[in-house]
Amino acid sequence: MNSYEFWFVVGSQFLYGQEVLDTVEARGREMAADLSRDLPYPLVFKTVVKTPEDADNIMREASHSAACAGVITWCHTFSPSKMWAAGLQALQKPWCHLATQYNREIPDREIDMDFMNLNQAAHGDREHGFIGARLRRQRGIAVGYWRDAPVRRELGDWMRAAAAAAFSRSLRIVRFGDNMRQVAVTEGDKVEALLKFGWHIDYWPVGSLCEEMEAVGDPEIREKLDEYRARYDFATDDLETVAYQAREELAIRRVMAREQAHGFVNTFQDLYGMRQLPGLASQNIMADGYGYGAEGDWKLSALTAVVKAMGEGLPGGTSFIEDYTYDLTPGKETALGAHMLEVCPSIAAGRPRIEVHPLGIGDREPPARLVFEGAPGSAVVVTLVDMGGRMRMIAQDVECIRPICEMPNLPVARVMWKGAPDLYTGVKCWILAGGAHHSVLSTQATPAMLESWAEIMDIEFVHITKNTDFASLKDKLFLSDLVWKLR
Ligand code: MN
Repeated sequence: MNSYEFWFVVGSQFLYGQEVLDTVEARGREMAADLSRDLPYPLVFKTVVKTPEDADNIMREASHSAACAGVITWCHTFSPSKMWAAGLQALQKPWCHLATQYNREIPDREIDMDFMNLNQAAHGDREHGFIGARLRRQRGIAVGYWRDAPVRRELGDWMRAAAAAAFSRSLRIVRFGDNMRQVAVTEGDKVEALLKFGWHIDYWPVGSLCEEMEAVGDPEIREKLDEYRARYDFATDDLETVAYQAREELAIRRVMAREQAHGFVNTFQDLYGMRQLPGLASQNIMADGYGYGAEGDWKLSALTAVVKAMGEGLPGGTSFIEDYTYDLTPGKETALGAHMLEVCPSIAAGRPRIEVHPLGIGDREPPARLVFEGAPGSAVVVTLVDMGGRMRMIAQDVECIRPICEMPNLPVARVMWKGAPDLYTGVKCWILAGGAHHSVLSTQATPAMLESWAEIMDIEFVHITKNTDFASLKDKLFLSDLVWKLR
């Protein structure tokens, strides 16, 4: 993710003379350098667009550049937008229109017509906005004084979404096992996922994973156990069981490295040749930024990888999760999220413990897994469903809380949250929209980032917030269904 950059393209024209153009370019360079200090990716000043050819050339160059994850434009002066039309039509990268101006204040005594000609972003940005609207071109719009924190945050969030879109376009997920028998929501159109998101979702036999497991050497396993000791507490003496997870982890990583994959799925229904369901193994892989989906859920494995990429470097964590059970005490309604084993330790409140317990299903030996409580704080849960003909992303604002009870007999990682606007309305909306039981819980990525990402990928986005009202959402989904069928 670190190798991406964004291009800063500034609009002007020849009307005001060379001196103005020189000033525009100098300021463009200064702004890009200064903004880059706060943004998650470098903003590289590229050019001042003065002619249709300038716009066309830079947008085509951006489209073909592997490093460029998006273009940010701003019109310092008036920059007639017929000049930009062909360039913006050709642009195949995410685009964000920054509406700002170089100076903060109107200089009372000094303002004259020369100042007005140079500093007319208010004028130029409207012309620029029109062509975006006229082209029906998807774009981010960030507005604010460029030296201020809020607009920098807005640009930064958009950059994270755009970088995650670039990451998504090259994402490969390895499937060790098909979807769980009879389950509907984990299914989906993998060709649609390739076309919309760029995801390559290919199958590798569990037997090939077992062969890799056989090939793992003892020194590697010892090294992996040292890594476990550095990261986690051992609450078991059953080192052989833990070592078996290390073997599984090393083998899964080998196959992913070989296939240049950044995530995987498996299923407890096909562990042919394996003695344990990968628990600790999957958790420790997720901790390093990889996607994971249980029960063959490739959409959620890819989404976990994408959301992890989006939030990379931010405080907090991101994990695959599942709605398990509720506490319906009036006034204290909460949801308990967990999984059979596979929850990422990046969302843990403290240092996770390695424990070994039998598993009720799957017909295998008791697996080693990490047990921990999730950290409290604001978060988002997000899922992805295939509506037939289109993908729908559903996000809900939640507040993770310290678990309300100890649950000493629950041997899995667990997190508790209060969903917006309240548990019952939130569940009702989630169910109406067809939201899955599998989701990604993130205290790193924000709903604004997810919305920008969904817009860049051209998919439907449904957001359940503290202001969501069931009746309005119902109307919105009804109309949205018609609109998406027309596209
Ligand atoms: Mn599940």
